Amino acid sequence: MTNSLKDTPRHQGLRNQLVQIIAKKGIKNEKVLKAMSKVPRHLFMDSALEIHAYEDKPFPIAADQTISQPYTVAFQTELLDVKPQAKILEIGTGSGYQTAVLMEMEALVYTVERQNELYKLSKLVLPKLGYKPRYMKFGDGYIGLEEYAPFDGIIVTAGAPLIPKPLLAQLKIGGKLVIPVGENIQIMTVLERVSEKEFTKKEYGEFRFVPLLKDKE
Ligand code: SAH
Repeated sequence: MTNSLKDTPRHQGLRNQLVQIIAKKGIKNEKVLKAMSKVPRHLFMDSALEIHAYEDKPFPIAADQTISQPYTVAFQTELLDVKPQAKILEIGTGSGYQTAVLMEMEALVYTVERQNELYKLSKLVLPKLGYKPRYMKFGDGYIGLEEYAPFDGIIVTAGAPLIPKPLLAQLKIGGKLVIPVGENIQIMTVLERVSEKEFTKKEYGEFRFVPLLKDKE
C-alpha cells in the first residue's frame, strides 16, 4: 500500500508528543529535536502501520528490514554532531527516514542501500517530500563511497559485526563515524579521526539493529 502523502495537524500533534518523549529519554540537541518534529515519519512507512508511526518503536518495512526507532535515530544524529552543509555518508538508507532527518539538519547527504526494493522506494519517496539527497546508491555500504570521500561524518544504520576499514579511511580529519558494533546486540560506537592515522573511540550503550550484510549474503 502506498501513502497519500498527507501530513495533517493531527500528525504534527503526534510528532510533537513523540519529540517530548525523546527529549525526556535524554536527547538534548535542540536542532535534532527540531528536525525530528519536522519529518513526517508516517509517510516513510506502510499506510497500514500509519497509526503506529509516532510511537517510539521500530517497525517493519520492505525486504525484511526495519525503520529505526525514533529515539535511536535521534541518538545517532546527536552523536554525529551534524553541522549545516556537512558532507554526511549514510550506510543503510532503508525507508529514508534517517536520511530526511539528516537533511532537516541541513546536511549534504550521500546514502547507500543494498536492498534494491528499498533503494527504489526511498528514491521515489524522499524527493516527493522535498528531500533531495546529494547521491543515492544501490550497493554495498561496507566499501563506503570512495568517489565522494572524504566525509565530515558517516552514520551506519545497521548492526556491523566489525568496523569496515574503508569507512574509517573515508573520514575527514575531525570527522566521526557513528556505528552500532556487534553481532546480536550492538554497542553504539563513535570513532573520531584525530589525525591521518589516529582515531579515538567512545562507546554509548547497547542497541539492537538489523545486520549490516556483506555483498553476497
Ligand atoms: N535508516 C533506516 C534503517 C533501515 S534498517 C531507516 O530508518 O529506515 C538498516 C538498513 O541497512 C536496511 O535497509 C538494510 O537493507 C541496509 N543494509 C544492510 N547491510 C547493508 C550494506 N552492506 N550496505 C548498505 N545497506 C545495508
